[in-house]
Formats: sequence, C-alpha cells, structure tokens
Amino acid sequence: MFLDIIVLTIVVVIVFAANLMMRHKGYIVPGKTIVRCSKGHLFITTWIEGYSLKAVRLGSLSRYQYCPIGKHWAIVHPVKESALSNDERKLMSHHSKSL
Ligand SMILES: [Zn+2]
Repeated sequence: MFLDIIVLTIVVVIVFAANLMMRHKGYIVPGKTIVRCSKGHLFITTWIEGYSLKAVRLGSLSRYQYCPIGKHWAIVHPVKESALSNDERKLMSHHSKSL
C-alpha cells in the first residue's frame, strides 16, 4: 500500500517532468519555435541557431523571413509561450497539431 503510493508519486513526477521538457522544446532553439513577424502575425517555424537556409540571419534573436500568415517578408523574432495571450496560445497549439 505504502509502496503503491511511492510508485504512483514517482510516475506523476516523471510525467510532469517529461511534459515540462516537451513544452520547453517548443520555444528553445534549435527546433520548432513560435515566432512573431514585425506586423504581429504569429506562426511556427523551424529555428536553428546560427544556421538557416530559408532566412537571412539578423543577429541572435531576429531574422528576415517569409511570413506565411501575412504572405510577406518581415523581420521575425521568437516568442516564448508564456508571453502569448490565451487566445494566441490556443491558436498556436492548434497550429502545432496540424504540422
Ligand atoms: Zn506577417
């Protein structure tokens, strides 16, 4: 009985930690990162620090890239999930599922 509770606690901690790491991956480079263009559009792009085929690099946390939302070229910056509004977060989780 006591052992069951310990095992359950360990499982909960592992699942919680794994989820935290997954969330973290969403906005840590390299990888799929939420970005905002200079006109305020949000989209998900593959951001690999120091290396990019699709975009012109403009320093560490900005680059010139095609914005698929507004269909224009713009300077984009990575956005942390915590900086998004609830509506934006919902929109992005919907987008990431469709990728
Ligand atoms: Zn845009």
